[in-house]
Amino acid sequence: MSRTCSVDGCQRAHHARGVCRTHYQRLLKTGTLDKSEAIRRRTEASARRREEVARQRIEDLTWLADNGVGLTEAAHRIGMKRNSLETWLSRRGEKDLMHRLIARDWLPVGERGVNQWGDWRSAS
Ligand SMILES: [Zn+2]
Repeated sequence: MSRTCSVDGCQRAHHARGVCRTHYQRLLKTGTLDKSEAIRRRTEASARRREEVARQRIEDLTWLADNGVGLTEAAHRIGMKRNSLETWLSRRGEKDLMHRLIARDWLPVGERGVNQWGDWRSAS
């Protein structure tokens, strides 16, 4: 009789490390044979990757805002639609950054860092 997988209830043929091909793949990818622990580890790993992507995006947007780039142009540069970026920033609680970017949308090129309403306000 040929060797089978050592995982309880699994009848598949042995592949490596005492387990079948399916369970061996799970072990390789997650470091565990326990199904719920494997799912938990995968979920955690993808959440970490998403958070790292988000952190880099915030860093890039902060740089763009610091360099006078508005929300429309910033969205274009990071490959998002303006509305999606606005929603994303809002959901993450990055309202300061969002408002800084929006304010720059209204600045004419060449007046970056200058409040265009300054003169208008002082004239009234
Ligand atoms: Zn198995």
